[in-house]
Amino acid sequence: MVGIFCRANHRDAPKARFSAGDVLFDIGKNRPELCAGCAELLDYGLRKLAKCPLNPKPACKKCPVHCYEPLYRDRVRAVMRFSGPYLIKRGRLDLIFKFYL
Ligand SMILES: [Zn+2]
Repeated sequence: MVGIFCRANHRDAPKARFSAGDVLFDIGKNRPELCAGCAELLDYGLRKLAKCPLNPKPACKKCPVHCYEPLYRDRVRAVMRFSGPYLIKRGRLDLIFKFYL
């Protein structure tokens, strides 16, 4: 999701393949190319997810913990708002479920 957002909104920013998540999750070959800001956001999200005390983790909307700090929560929300409809339009609901449930 962050990858889609970044490709569309930060087209001119220099990008690198995301790798910081490796230590926490096997994100396999779905490794997005991200600008520095988006990489930081994704890394933050993955770290929070790894530390989440709820297992299985509920969708963030229903989560009682609200682990994201407000600044990041806004950024994540912007990414979701953009990428959610994008994926739905392209029939990639599987990706939404994969990343955000
Ligand atoms: Zn970006």
